[in-house]
Amino acid sequence: MDLSQLKVGQRAVIQKVHGKGQFRKRILEMGFVQGKEIISVQNAPLYDPIHYKILGYDVSLRRADAQKIEIKVLGQEGKIEEQELDKISPTHHGMLSDEPFAPKYQAKDKLIPIRIALLGNPNSGKTSLFNQVSGANEHVGNYSGVTVEAKTGYILYGDYRLEIIDLPGAYSLSPYSPEELYIRDYLTGEQKPDIVLNVLDACNLERNLYLSLQLKEMGLPVIVALNMFDELERKKDLLDYPKLSALLGIPMIPTICRTGGGLGALFDELISLYEAISANDEEWLNEERGKARPLKLNYGVHLEPIIESLSLPIRQHYKDYSPAEVRHLAIKCLEGDKAYLDKLQKDRAVAVRYTREEELKKLKEELGELDTEEMITDARYGFISGALRETYKRRKQTQGSLSDRIDHIVTDKFLGFPIFLALMFLMFYTTFELGAFPMEWIETAVAIFGEWISQLLPEGPIKDLLVDGVIAGVGGVIVFLPNILILYLFISLFEDSGYMARAAFIMDKLMHKMGLHGKSFIPLVMGFGCNVPAVMATRSIESRKSRMITMLVLPFMSCSARLPVYILIAGALFPSSASTVLFGLYLFGILTAVISARIMRDTLFSGEDVPFVMELPPYRMPTLRSVLRQMWNRAKQYLQKMGTVILFASIVIWFLGYFPRQDEAQAKLQQQITQVEQNVSLSEVLKAEQTKELNASFNQMQQEKSYIGRLGKFVEPALSPLGFDWKMSISLLSGLAAKEVVVSTLGVIYTGDGDDSEEAQTLLRERIRQEKRADGSPSFTPLVALSFLIFVLIYFPCVATIIAIAKESGSWKWGAFTVIFSCALAWLLSFLVFQVGNLIILH
Ligand code: GDP
Ligand code: MG
Repeated sequence: MDLSQLKVGQRAVIQKVHGKGQFRKRILEMGFVQGKEIISVQNAPLYDPIHYKILGYDVSLRRADAQKIEIKVLGQEGKIEEQELDKISPTHHGMLSDEPFAPKYQAKDKLIPIRIALLGNPNSGKTSLFNQVSGANEHVGNYSGVTVEAKTGYILYGDYRLEIIDLPGAYSLSPYSPEELYIRDYLTGEQKPDIVLNVLDACNLERNLYLSLQLKEMGLPVIVALNMFDELERKKDLLDYPKLSALLGIPMIPTICRTGGGLGALFDELISLYEAISANDEEWLNEERGKARPLKLNYGVHLEPIIESLSLPIRQHYKDYSPAEVRHLAIKCLEGDKAYLDKLQKDRAVAVRYTREEELKKLKEELGELDTEEMITDARYGFISGALRETYKRRKQTQGSLSDRIDHIVTDKFLGFPIFLALMFLMFYTTFELGAFPMEWIETAVAIFGEWISQLLPEGPIKDLLVDGVIAGVGGVIVFLPNILILYLFISLFEDSGYMARAAFIMDKLMHKMGLHGKSFIPLVMGFGCNVPAVMATRSIESRKSRMITMLVLPFMSCSARLPVYILIAGALFPSSASTVLFGLYLFGILTAVISARIMRDTLFSGEDVPFVMELPPYRMPTLRSVLRQMWNRAKQYLQKMGTVILFASIVIWFLGYFPRQDEAQAKLQQQITQVEQNVSLSEVLKAEQTKELNASFNQMQQEKSYIGRLGKFVEPALSPLGFDWKMSISLLSGLAAKEVVVSTLGVIYTGDGDDSEEAQTLLRERIRQEKRADGSPSFTPLVALSFLIFVLIYFPCVATIIAIAKESGSWKWGAFTVIFSCALAWLLSFLVFQVGNLIILH
């Protein structure tokens, strides 16, 4: 029987894991090994994926993946053996100090540097620890994949200067995922840390210790922070951690990284370990009894002899290796770890490779089917189980935990989607409805500021640059700040509470059909706000293929900067059905994203993918501090990136539209204005009106003759099959910087005024309707408008999004791809709409 057939609520024991490669490795490491008990908790509302409990933690697995796991169902009576309570001494409650961490700083000339690497499973609290001790503001989240790049912080502690590196989370050090490879290279490379600070989730020791064992086997100096100790105590589980520490040869200190509890003790111990290593202290390093002695795991009767015989040629080839390093390399060779096998080849360790092949052949003859990788994983988990059996006692729960009960509602077959949709609706409603108020204030403030500056400065290019280029450009960016802040508030709340993983769980089946991942959903939703932070949010998707596709189709999610264009054009040409057109456009964008994602999955990114084994962390109360901090940090990123890029782009666009100056015409304009002013037969009101008109027609002429006007005329032939004239072409060109610029450009072209006041917009709508071509037909027919709207939706997202995509994908190639793909697609779709529409109208 396979795991997917296990009924909800039933328990089973794992017999064997089939499948191969990355999937198998990942699943084994996450504790799906022979003999472990597993419970099927719940199906997602769409029946796939499935929520399981294994080793006491919650995980979501796709049905297709679960089919590869063979199980034996347990009846009610078939309980896995329970440990006896009285054999275990209680936890050392008193030892966990609540005192917050305070660096003990002594003014010394010379501080000794210690490099510390923070390592642990995703969600174990590494970043919380990092923030506590270094005073940094890194992003904490109850959602795996939040930390994606290494961050470094410094603290002064006693005689030492500690350099702490917050690494991405990892379940093991296998050579599969890029993060794990990165971490391993880091641990063995030039910048190798002096101490590895391994952060464990104390409620999840069985799986968390797997990584600790691997670190220990690599011969690294490891110290463990038993984090989430508050949760352990609340559950009233018992843990004899001094004994566990002695069994593993790893010093362990309980901590609560969220509040800083225990961190003082942790760092004192860390310093002691460092000093012991420097002094080669017998008490710590003794092979038999030392507190931090090397760990030598027994791999059983079949593998141990091979490790022995491999050690011989290894010792000969790598003469400077310590015994621990020799053994580690032997184990890695046996495991078939690709990076190490490559190393053997590179180092021309012929004898080692030969011995390995021979020994494996012999063992295969002896055992028949052979899988050393699984044997080694089994042995490690076996060792951990043994150690925990002696030291850890889970209190039997009379009822499901709070987290379980919430899950039963939130991912329920009937309630799951309504709750999810309600939350999404709430997020959008608040973002756009509430956000509209501060947005207006900012708009007004920017307008007043611009007014003030323009009165302060003398006429001339400098003033025009400041007012029309800089202030208008930057104003266009900060106007979206309230929206972004509110959107991020929600995202942070979802992430910190643990709901985000459930959203991915619910959405996975739909997303998978599109060739995406459950975790793709949130970035796509964020894309409706602004594509740039949404592209950054794709980081939490572990699978590179899914991440890339998500990023590349994201620009089709219609961001809020496109909205002003829709409102203007739809309002002018479809006044009675503007909202239907708007809704249709959003839908059209989503459809385009879905279809392109599907196509990309089958072409650019086909092939095997990282399995969807996603941890469902227990729900946790988000802390206000962390939520607000995150919200602000992200908004700041937005402002910085946007501020610089958009500022630059607005200045360029301004420049192209402003030069060359029509000096003669301007002189004439001045003359005409003077004439009007000196005309005694005109009333003051008429004078002002005429002056305004003269100015406007000058501006229009200036725009037409400017560089961007010439460019617009130059590209007009390419865009005329879509129904666009040179004026629309100009506005589309200026929209390359940011889509909302399309509106202000249209304003300048049609009315001579780029203002976005209510009055100016009404006038603009009027002008757009009246605009005629050379032959007297209207420029904007409803069909042209539709074609134009679709073009604005699909083409070139904006400079900032392109930069974000290039940065996140790690290559400018993908940025260029987005530019070409989106422009070509926009052209094609608009072409189809316009030409097919024309045919229909003509017949
Ligand atoms: P990382 O993925 O290892 O960097 O983990 P984070 O630092 O982002 O923390 C994951 C989650 O656990 C966050 O919601 C934290 O607020 C929470 N957390 C961290 N340390 C503790 C702790 O000691 N006790 C409790 N109850 N929660 C914690
Ligand atoms: Mg982190």
